[in-house]
Amino acid sequence: MTSPGPLPGHQTTAVRANWLGRYLSVESGFDKEIHKALLAAAVDSEKRIVALVDSPGVGAKTRRLQISLARNQIRSTVTSLFGKNITGLIKHFQGDAANAAVDAALYDELPLLGKFFRSKAQRNAYQSSLHATASRNIESTITRVLGLSKMPLSKRVYRTQALAQGRVDSAINNALSRGDSAKDLAKSVRALIDPNVAGGVSYAAMRLGRTEINNAFHAQSIHDAIEKPWVNQMRWHLSKVHEPQGCFCEKYAIQGLFQANHVPNKPHPQCRCYVTPELPDYNEFEVDLLGGQYDSYLDNLLNAAGA
Ligand SMILES: [Zn+2]
Repeated sequence: MTSPGPLPGHQTTAVRANWLGRYLSVESGFDKEIHKALLAAAVDSEKRIVALVDSPGVGAKTRRLQISLARNQIRSTVTSLFGKNITGLIKHFQGDAANAAVDAALYDELPLLGKFFRSKAQRNAYQSSLHATASRNIESTITRVLGLSKMPLSKRVYRTQALAQGRVDSAINNALSRGDSAKDLAKSVRALIDPNVAGGVSYAAMRLGRTEINNAFHAQSIHDAIEKPWVNQMRWHLSKVHEPQGCFCEKYAIQGLFQANHVPNKPHPQCRCYVTPELPDYNEFEVDLLGGQYDSYLDNLLNAAGA
């Protein structure tokens, strides 16, 4: 009997489709939703400024008052954009990313686990059990596996929110000192938040979201590898769109294998590299399975699934 993985060159495409492919489809779902949320906030901010400051012929003092009122309103738009919309989206898609990592591992393991499962129903129960645990626990999984200075998601979001707020404030202050018209001020604030305009708040928000969602995928992959008694090591793969050159990702890919409990964190934001569990040889797996070495792990999961 041969080992379950085909030759390395061949494997790369299949592994990439299974792991990176599943992750990217979660990421593109997030991109669509955050795009909508940012656009709505951009349009809203523009309207609020125009509505408050659109009175020609007022004195400089009144105008400054109007602009500071507008600034408060934009603050609350930015606060609710990050606090409610973006945090909610990140949490939702982190759950999806955790499930995608579960599915990718399961897909690789099917040739092995086929030995263990007596029916498709039992296999589905195993998958549902892994999904339920993964999406429910993803935030604590990220903290536990990746550390991330033990900072909760809400705090990490708040950092980006504070930066975003600073950029909006300085756009308003600049407009004030230049004596821009309300229309110009509204336009420049809108551009900062509009996801169709490069850079600004929208870029920071998308970068934060993608990094968080990728961390969920990474943490879940590592967590499952540590938990599964048939996995000891993980392999680091570069993503196809990998940038920049000469970074740690490349060193990790050259090293290739890491003990599952010593897989490095993502070395830079928006890193789409991924790690895959090194599966045992088919014969080795079968001997250990029949010898009862995986019983307690599998029994626990199937009990949890009520199978
Ligand atoms: Zn990378």
